[in-house]
Formats: sequence, C-alpha cells, structure tokens
Amino acid sequence: MTQPVFFIGPRGCGKTTVGQALAQEQNWHFVDTDHWLQERAQMNVAEIVAKEGWEGFRARETQALQAVSATSTVVATGGGMVLAEANRRFMREAGLVIYLRAPAGVLAARLDAFPQAGQRPALTAKPPEEEIREVLAEREPLYCETAHYIVDAAQPLERIIADVQAALSQPAS
Ligand code: ADP
Ligand code: MG
Repeated sequence: MTQPVFFIGPRGCGKTTVGQALAQEQNWHFVDTDHWLQERAQMNVAEIVAKEGWEGFRARETQALQAVSATSTVVATGGGMVLAEANRRFMREAGLVIYLRAPAGVLAARLDAFPQAGQRPALTAKPPEEEIREVLAEREPLYCETAHYIVDAAQPLERIIADVQAALSQPAS
C-alpha cells in the first residue's frame, strides 16, 4: 500500500498528530497542506485571508493538495479541504481518505488547551465552541462522503493509530 493517505476532519481532530505518528511508523513522508502553503506563500493563514480573502486561501489549498500528493506520503489536510468538490474527488481517486471524527466538545477542549492549534482567523463572530459545533454540522456530511474510512478520533492516540492501521490493511470501500 503506497498510495497517499489523506486525513480529513475539523481543526483539532488530530490530523497532524495522527498523520505524523503514522508516517513515522510506516517510514512514509508526512506533509501538512496548511504548513506547505504557508511556507510557499511566505504568509500565515490570517495574512493570506486578509490579503486574498478565503477564496484566495482555498485556491492555494487546492494547489497544495495536488502538489504534495505522492506515493508513500501521509497528508494532513486543512479542515476546509472538503469544501471544494474537486478536492473531494481528487483525494478519493488519488489515495485513501480517513476522516478523524470527534464530537464538537472534544474539539473545543483540545483547541482550548492548545490555542496554538487554532491559530487561524475565526470563521464567524460566534463564541469558539458554538462556531466549532456549527461548522462541524455543516461539514460533517462532506467529511463522511469523502472518507473511505471513519475513525473515532476521541480515543487515545495509540487506539486511533491501531484503527487507522486496520483500515489501511483492508481493501478500500
Ligand atoms: P489538527 O491537525 O486536526 O488540527 P492536531 O493534530 O493539531 O489537530 O491536534 C490538536 C490538538 O489536540 C493538539 O494539541 C494535539 O496534541 C491534541 N490531540 C490530538 N489528538 C489527540 C488525542 N487522540 N487525544 C488527546 N489529544 C489529542
Ligand atoms: Mg493540523
């Protein structure tokens, strides 16, 4: 199994943490599309959005997704990667897509404990947990439709990795 593995899900679900751990175990490359595009742009997400709008950011995100996809590579995507139909189709066709699913309360607690993980402009003017809940409800169907596998991301890291390994050893559905 050397096709790319894409982790999708909202901010705080563990895409970077789980992705890095998996890459290390398998001796694969690890790429985070957010990191990749910020390095390339020489701007952080907030600066890109201020200068180019969310539209500009989304265009850079699609470009990043296609540029980093390679064999033996684990890709951690941004929470909004699934918004574009082209990105959803690309991931499903180019590799294996895993949705790290966690309830809004778990995501809010993680982002609260590690505010640097949420270092991006707010999507709405609402209180953080309410925004997380709303954005998750809106994107949940897209995460589910894009994923080949859904893994419970509220578990301890070792359990998540075990579930991911089990998913990777099955034929894609
Ligand atoms: P994402 O890349 O999806 O935004 P991160 O991997 O950055 O998520 O994780 C967000 C925060 O939650 C980090 O501080 C990370 O250490 C923590 N975290 C990730 N996975 C777990 C887990 N399974 N259990 C507890 N904390 C976790
Ligand atoms: Mg991340």
